[in-house]
Amino acid sequence: MLSPVFRQIPKVSYRGLSLKYGQPSVTAPLWRRWNSSATTEHDVVVIGGGPGGYVAAIKAAQLGLKTACIEKRGALGGTCLNVGCIPSKSLLNNTHLLHQAQHDFAKRGIEVGEVKVNLDQMMKAKEDSVSSLTKGIEFLFKKNGVDYVKGHGRFVSPTEVQVDLLEGGQQTLKAKNIIIATGSEPTHLGGLEVDETQIITSTGALSLDRVPEKMIVIGGGVIGLELGSVWSRLGSEVTVVEFMGAIGAGMDAQLAKAFQRTLTKQGLKFKVNTKVVGAEKKDGKVFLNVESAKGGKAEVMEADAVLVAVGRRPNTDGLDVEKAGIQLNNRGQVPIGDRFVASTEHPHIRCIGDVTFGPMLAHKAEEEGIAAVEDIAGGHGHVNYDVIPSVIYTHPEVAWCGKNEEQLKEAGIKYRVGSFPFSANSRAKTNGDSEGLIKVISDAETDRILGAHIMGPNAGEMIAEAVLAMEYGASSEDVARTCHAHPTLSEAFKEACMAAYDKSIHA
Ligand SMILES: Cc1cc2nc3c(=O)[nH]c(=O)nc-3n(C[C@H](O)[C@H](O)[C@H](O)COP(=O)(O)OP(=O)(O)OC[C@H]3O[C@@H](n4cnc5c(N)ncnc54)[C@H](O)[C@@H]3O)c2cc1C
Repeated sequence: MLSPVFRQIPKVSYRGLSLKYGQPSVTAPLWRRWNSSATTEHDVVVIGGGPGGYVAAIKAAQLGLKTACIEKRGALGGTCLNVGCIPSKSLLNNTHLLHQAQHDFAKRGIEVGEVKVNLDQMMKAKEDSVSSLTKGIEFLFKKNGVDYVKGHGRFVSPTEVQVDLLEGGQQTLKAKNIIIATGSEPTHLGGLEVDETQIITSTGALSLDRVPEKMIVIGGGVIGLELGSVWSRLGSEVTVVEFMGAIGAGMDAQLAKAFQRTLTKQGLKFKVNTKVVGAEKKDGKVFLNVESAKGGKAEVMEADAVLVAVGRRPNTDGLDVEKAGIQLNNRGQVPIGDRFVASTEHPHIRCIGDVTFGPMLAHKAEEEGIAAVEDIAGGHGHVNYDVIPSVIYTHPEVAWCGKNEEQLKEAGIKYRVGSFPFSANSRAKTNGDSEGLIKVISDAETDRILGAHIMGPNAGEMIAEAVLAMEYGASSEDVARTCHAHPTLSEAFKEACMAAYDKSIHA
């Protein structure tokens, strides 16, 4: 939520030019013409064209700042569009349709002939979505006047970035403000050499050219579970190996258990409390050495493909941050200063998205991009880190926001829980898609919503209501007394809120 102070500022003044917030078109072209004689000096240079970087660049240009965005990949959109959110959701959506056609249509009275997988076509559909979206960002850059510099950027001084251009040669950009948005890369696991065909990261798992008979997924977090589901639906026998005692890192424990049960019913196997200690490739197979996380019992597991999904590390390779006077912290992140959410210890250098602290999520990176630029232009920027939603796009989906029960217990905060099962929601029942529940946690004294946890159809869309409610400090009674359309899945959220402060009607 914008702070009241921020809301009261209708205009900002930037270097003698008056810019109206949100409506820069009057002054921005003038500002750019004025500078067009130009040098390569920019008001803002963004390194990295992922969701953090490209959003920051567009917003900066909209606010009338002369802006460049450097991207080395040859395509905009970063991990998210190219090898993350978008391609994974394309495969998740299409394999869900496959699953429905194979296992669900008949009982709905839809008879189809033999259903077959055309993996090449499925991959092509994924690539088409990716390329139309990345081109869309290029269009937005042109529309807003962002200079798109294709190449690898590195600091040569605190105010200069040198780019090794993809087309050859170099260009040096001088900048009043620099935003580091270089994102992250998959973390590798000692003893497992990634070849992206047999031992793969998420990037390899998004474009395998065959369906492996047996796949082991190392890591029961969001990425592992999503991609494990994809290949399981395509016919692989998938086993998820997880070091911790539960899957779904960060998820409410009750939902994590229910979710594991659901995925098990779908055919995924789980080995929790298990650590991978090494791997050997032989005769087209991978032999994975695992043992109990607490030590002891060792075992060899065999697979045709092993997906290493144990997390991601900040990407600062070849960025030469030390030339800007920045020292990475012990997690390899660009550390933030104490002035503002996205600023480093140098006021003119910001860091946003996966390369710095916080959840590695595209929408978190975007929020920080906007906030960083608004701070540059007007001295105010805001990100509410307490209400950043997380979603797992399996089927059913799982989505949550705010605190879970375990965190509240640890913090000694008294709370109430209201739950509502989708099996009691008329729309979910009618759709024949009623697995899961909604759990709303509110403060025992004030009834303010502290957390919302959803496992069910469209949970990723439904969490937006909880996020909005929490952003505005709503109580569970506020939501429960808000009229929700019938028959909708969102009525389940209303009912869970009713249950949190009083009683639900339908369960
Ligand atoms: C399989 C998968 C699924 C995911 N699904 C989701 C999801 O559903 N929802 C969600 O919110 N998040 C998801 N994520 C995470 C999401 O992709 C990241 O959190 C997000 O992309 C981070 O954005 P960013 O801008 O910080 O960095 P990135 O998207 O990583 O972009 C950084 C860009 O900087 C470029 N770059 C790096 N160094 C330089 C340099 N020196 N010079 C020039 N360019 C450089 C890189 O090429 C890259 O394009 C997923 C990730 C993966 C891997």
